[in-house]
Amino acid sequence: MKVCKTIRSARSCLATARADFKSIGFVPTMGALHAGHLSLVHKARKDNDFVVVSIFLNPIQFGENEDLSTYPRNFVADEKLLKDAGVDMVFYPSVDNMYSSFFSTYVNEEKISLTLCGAKRPGHFQGVTTVVAKLFNIIGPDNAYFGRKDYQQFQVIRRMVEDLNFPVKLYSCPIVREKDGLALSSRNAYLSPKERLEAVKISQSIKNAKKLVKTGQINTVKKLISSVEKDIAKIGVEHSIDYVEVLDSKTLENVKTIDAKLLLAVAVFVGKTRLIDNIII
Ligand code: AMP
Repeated sequence: MKVCKTIRSARSCLATARADFKSIGFVPTMGALHAGHLSLVHKARKDNDFVVVSIFLNPIQFGENEDLSTYPRNFVADEKLLKDAGVDMVFYPSVDNMYSSFFSTYVNEEKISLTLCGAKRPGHFQGVTTVVAKLFNIIGPDNAYFGRKDYQQFQVIRRMVEDLNFPVKLYSCPIVREKDGLALSSRNAYLSPKERLEAVKISQSIKNAKKLVKTGQINTVKKLISSVEKDIAKIGVEHSIDYVEVLDSKTLENVKTIDAKLLLAVAVFVGKTRLIDNIII
């Protein structure tokens, strides 16, 4: 496995793969890898001749008061996991290499990114689309893999790829969860043991809501949201709801009734840790 720490070295490594007519699969990450990330890597490995994973903690997708400085970093452990998973190349650039002091060009998706996390984290999706556009231009993948844990992120990137004609095929992969149901996240490392135990109530709340819809006990969006809020209120440590929303799963537009395919998405602070989760109903 080759570790490329500059754009130049990544391009030269990829030129060789391309000259051999290898298909290139790409998984962008911010590191602190877990089984969720690895599920994308395994899918990329299965589908492609040459697999690239990027590890880049992208500063421009973090707000001023967010957790960029404390975000878990562990390149040594990440490198081993990726090597064991049969990855061909890791792209691990510095911030300076990705963003020169003259940097002043950004990519904006202006519809899907305005709701959910976009509304709560101004500038976040501009940071995401900009870095993913740069990474696509640097790596030039045939196929790129994302997790449905960040459901909105995938929809925003899909829009960008279509709108700006990136020649890449996108895949979204299922959410990988802990045994008790908590969605895996690099941010779970922030949770105290007590917070970790209580955080499971987030995934339980959305699963429960889905069950209540399926069995006909909930038939309005309002009741659906209040069921989730009621369950989340049972979290027995300091917490607060950032959002609980029900949207059309394709357009991410508001819905009034429960008849289309819906996205139930939540963001909850457990202690100081912001966790997101979602389910399709
Ligand atoms: P991140 O390192 O948080 O930027 O995540 C990199 C990729 O891994 C994104 O496409 C995420 O959606 C995906 N991912 C993160 N957590 C999970 C999970 N629990 N299950 C599946 N994919 C995940």
